[in-house]
Amino acid sequence: MTEKNVVENFITHVIDEDLANNKHDHVVTRFPPEPNGYLHIGHAKSICLNFGVAADYKGTCHLRFDDTNPEKESREYAESIQRDIKWLGFDWQENKFHASDYFEQLYDYAEQLINKGLAYVDDQTPEEIRENRGDFNRLGVDSPYRNRSVAENLELFKAMRAGDFADGTKVLRAKIDMQSGNINMRDPVIYRIKRMHHINTGDTWCIYPMYDFTHCLSDAIEGITHSLCTLEFEDHRPLYDWVIDNVDIGCHPQQIEFSRLNVSYTITSKRRLNQLVEAGVVDGWNDPRMSTLSGLRRRGYPPAAIREFIRQVGVSKKESVISMTVLEDTLRNYLNKTAPRVMGVLRPLKVVIENYPEEQVEMLSGANHPQDETFGCREIPFSRVIYVEQADYKENANRKFFRLTEGREVRLRHAYYITCQKAIKNQAGEVIELRCTYDPESRGGTADGRKVKGTIHWISAAHAEPVEVRLYDRLFNHPKPASLESFMDAVNPDSLEILPNALLEPGICKLDDDIVYQFERNAYFKRDKTHETDKPIYNQVVTMRDSWAKMEQESE
Ligand code: ATP
Ligand code: MG
Repeated sequence: MTEKNVVENFITHVIDEDLANNKHDHVVTRFPPEPNGYLHIGHAKSICLNFGVAADYKGTCHLRFDDTNPEKESREYAESIQRDIKWLGFDWQENKFHASDYFEQLYDYAEQLINKGLAYVDDQTPEEIRENRGDFNRLGVDSPYRNRSVAENLELFKAMRAGDFADGTKVLRAKIDMQSGNINMRDPVIYRIKRMHHINTGDTWCIYPMYDFTHCLSDAIEGITHSLCTLEFEDHRPLYDWVIDNVDIGCHPQQIEFSRLNVSYTITSKRRLNQLVEAGVVDGWNDPRMSTLSGLRRRGYPPAAIREFIRQVGVSKKESVISMTVLEDTLRNYLNKTAPRVMGVLRPLKVVIENYPEEQVEMLSGANHPQDETFGCREIPFSRVIYVEQADYKENANRKFFRLTEGREVRLRHAYYITCQKAIKNQAGEVIELRCTYDPESRGGTADGRKVKGTIHWISAAHAEPVEVRLYDRLFNHPKPASLESFMDAVNPDSLEILPNALLEPGICKLDDDIVYQFERNAYFKRDKTHETDKPIYNQVVTMRDSWAKMEQESE
């Protein structure tokens, strides 16, 4: 049996029951993004849930653009949304819709409400409407225009559509209950006048329907069976049901709410993400530090790792903040199994092996994965001059430092043992080169079986590929940036470190593949194809282990 996309939860229980009771014989869900920004990790939860549930029940999932607010919407956003959903591994097939596809139908439904005496045109100013709606402690006050006749309302609504009134001078409101305990039911505005060019309908309309009126009817028009949304819409459900119950439409989708995904140290709000872009804090929506799907893609997150993370988080009604460590650990586990190993030196230090012949080059074999033979082996050139990591040499090392210091022997990964004879310094007193010797008998261990505790990675100088490496840290240094008065103040100034002089073993850049590599002993990296200077750029996807755990280990 193939594994389910969505682990059993309270929503799948509702669906099981509806199928068992013959309320439905199939499942139709939808993912309804507003094209006003790029998708983020929070949206991944909704995508995996809606598309995942549909796939598990052999149903369909629609992609529906919720495009009722032309002011903030753009084609660029709509295109990015489609790209990101496909990348994440889902497909709406022929079921791509827009709320704007239904503008004409929605207008007719609004007229139905008017004809039933359930909607009226209100001339109050937006401020008066807000004031008269009251709040938790104060009941609403009826509008002086609430009792207009059906005929007058119809005529005014037609005139609104025809463009007879200025923006904001009139609205259409549902006539429900100004004393309702639920403020959403206090005669919500369902149409407003707004002269704005729309990405799909152009200048056809100067009135636009509001979200609460549009969403439920779009669901019903499409025959959605289960309309899954986040908890903030719970209080809107009575309105969702009221609208559908009061127009002539033969379908009543069930709205079910689940909790949003929040991840610590990140922002999951398009509006705030947009602020980061606008302020130039990041290099666009797809900056590798962004929690957008396009940022995670550029950073090197495989979509399967994101899907696995979402599976682990599960679906419930409980509000929570998932630790960033959970996301990163899921990624590490995935990459540990799937990433080929190579050697990359991030901060190079030159090593001359004095007793190795000048012109000689040997091809040594290295396994591409320490636990999985199916990854095969590759040939790695070895020669007299190599580079090692600066941090693998220490001048005054204690006995617990098992790497290079004068007089100490280490193993070179996939190669020989070398002994550090002498460090050469520049005038500033910095070590710029090590002089070493090697034991020609030491490939794969030595005859005398002597133990060498440290193994370090290296790259042959003559064969090294110069690359730029970009290391990333969290974009925010506060676990809940969105809870702060100004989340911009929590931006981590050290979230990007550029290492312009890194070196990679030969052959990797040329492969031009779409693979995440483990640079052994360093981290996971992926080539950044969207941004290239004279050298290939490699983004750090994630460190090998949590940096706290790493620091603890170093100090052992
Ligand atoms: P944002 O606050 O980032 O603008 P939104 O909810 O306004 O988010 P939409 O484009 O309306 O963005 O979202 C499309 C769908 O994704 C909605 O059904 C919404 O409930 C869901 N969604 C958005 N953010 C999250 C999240 N953090 N966790 C789960 N689902 C989410
Ligand atoms: Mg929204």
